[in-house]
Amino acid sequence: MSNESRNSAPAPASNFLRGIIDSDNAEAKYAGRADSSGAPLPAVITRFPPEPNGYLHIGHAKSICLNFGLARDYAGRCHMRFDDTNPTKEEQEYVDTILDSVQWLGFSWQHGNQDHLYYASDYFDRLYEMAEYLISAGHAYVDSQSAEEMAANRGSFAEPGKDSPFRNRPAAESLDLFRRMKAGEFKDGEHILRAKIDMASPNMNMRDPAIYRIRHAHHHRTGDKWCIYPMYDYTHPISDALENITHSLCTLEFQDHRPFYDWILERLTEGGFFRKPLPQQYEFARLNLTYAITSKRKLLQLVEEKIVDGWDDPRMPTIVGIRRRGYTPESIQLFCERIGVAKADSWIDMGILEAALRDDLDEKAPRAVAVLNPLKLIIDNFPEGETVACSAPAHPHHPERGNRSFPIGKELWIEADDFMETPSKGFFRLTPGGRVRLRYGYVVECTGCDKDGNGNVVAVHCDYFADSKSGTEGANNYKVKGNIHWVSAAHALETEVRLYDRLFSDPHPDAGGKDFKAALNPDSKSVITAYLEPGTASANADDRFQFERHGYFVADRVDSRPGKPVFNRIVTLKDSWAK
Ligand code: ATP
Ligand code: MG
Repeated sequence: MSNESRNSAPAPASNFLRGIIDSDNAEAKYAGRADSSGAPLPAVITRFPPEPNGYLHIGHAKSICLNFGLARDYAGRCHMRFDDTNPTKEEQEYVDTILDSVQWLGFSWQHGNQDHLYYASDYFDRLYEMAEYLISAGHAYVDSQSAEEMAANRGSFAEPGKDSPFRNRPAAESLDLFRRMKAGEFKDGEHILRAKIDMASPNMNMRDPAIYRIRHAHHHRTGDKWCIYPMYDYTHPISDALENITHSLCTLEFQDHRPFYDWILERLTEGGFFRKPLPQQYEFARLNLTYAITSKRKLLQLVEEKIVDGWDDPRMPTIVGIRRRGYTPESIQLFCERIGVAKADSWIDMGILEAALRDDLDEKAPRAVAVLNPLKLIIDNFPEGETVACSAPAHPHHPERGNRSFPIGKELWIEADDFMETPSKGFFRLTPGGRVRLRYGYVVECTGCDKDGNGNVVAVHCDYFADSKSGTEGANNYKVKGNIHWVSAAHALETEVRLYDRLFSDPHPDAGGKDFKAALNPDSKSVITAYLEPGTASANADDRFQFERHGYFVADRVDSRPGKPVFNRIVTLKDSWAK
């Protein structure tokens, strides 16, 4: 983005997180810090910390826009970090697609000439060292209860937990056991390292939470080096502190984890591992989008049961799906700006996402004509074999973008529903004896139609008025109420068009444990052969158009071939779902 366009962009809407950052900045809370090499650190450092165990979805986009957006607006930086502490569920494939999606959304973890891409697994040595310290300082112990005993002794919301019989074993004994856990002497689940906090805490997360467990599993980055792995709640605050994060933003369900986040960092600061000011966790409401699901498990089910055509199916709420559908990164950013961030969960209507797309594409997308449900129109008095060039603006509000040109001939394709043999009241399009303007072409008068043996209309006939061409003086002599679009049958691009709609017809497909598969929209995809304005044949993958009267379409990034694009409908011109 140039400086000029940045300055003219509207100021971002205020929200409670900006309020927090503003007041932190006012008291210079994170000012004057330096990294381990002495380089000055910005006063705002955020991070986006996905677990590489699935594809990113629209909910993640909110977190990405928030974290990278705040860093950008406050001249700070945002770290891209993989929270890869769970060896069995993570794969390189996910790392690759996540990086690709974040970049596509328009963000970068490059700051100056430094690459701020991190992996929690790179901290395994440090995390281990800190765990040994916590044991020595009496803040952690190895518990040797079985998983069942531990669960039983954890208590409930109503009842305090019970101390483990191993809770007061000497630090030296815990340390010895922890080292032997690391050395691989024990099986999965035989021992576990726990923080020593308070088994009676009203906050279950403070009842001696696990911080290390035995897991004999191969890790996608550290291989077989480790057979003990740190827990997420232990790893996260430490990763934040190691990276000098200032504002650690997460979704509301982590609110109850915040006391442990602070507890760990306080203990380690006492141990000399960190210095104040420490990173602080803040929670915001996750994005819940109507007519969509964002549970990774359920999305996987849609893919595995082939209910959709893969992770990048244009109906999927995944970033790869939304991208293939034809959404622009700018429209997603606009959507995230508009919905803002709040401290209470709510539902955002899918219509808001679609409106952001329309607002973005209305300006950008060149116009073109497409006939989706074709019916032949024959201009009987048009000279056989001849064509006349017609032209239309590439964009109605931007004459500087020039004109497009396409021929008109004797045989055209029009939309079947632009003709009615017996018109209903208020129908101003083609009907025997009636006149319409062929958009950008001539005025024609309908003379009748041909039918097949079953009475279906197979062609419509008309005569044209040679002096009525759009853009010529004679055009004004004809007053017609209807204006229909068309393409020349001899010149049109005949190609596949996929008409996508919402995947679910229920606004809350999986609310309250409902079977989301029962809420699938049976009309979420239909594949047709359409006739398009000839110029669209040169569209490249990802080129977007407004097909006049129909909506926004994109040349599919997977199936389009040179000279033969295949189009996806991104969204209709109007919201047909609004009540
Ligand atoms: P998991 O259950 O596997 O942890 P997750 O959806 O939390 O799934 P992560 O990869 O851990 O996935 O998420 C990365 C970041 O994206 C987290 O900071 C998380 O809070 C945020 N995030 C995930 N889903 C949403 C959502 N619907 N709205 C806003 N932020 C989200
Ligand atoms: Mg998560």
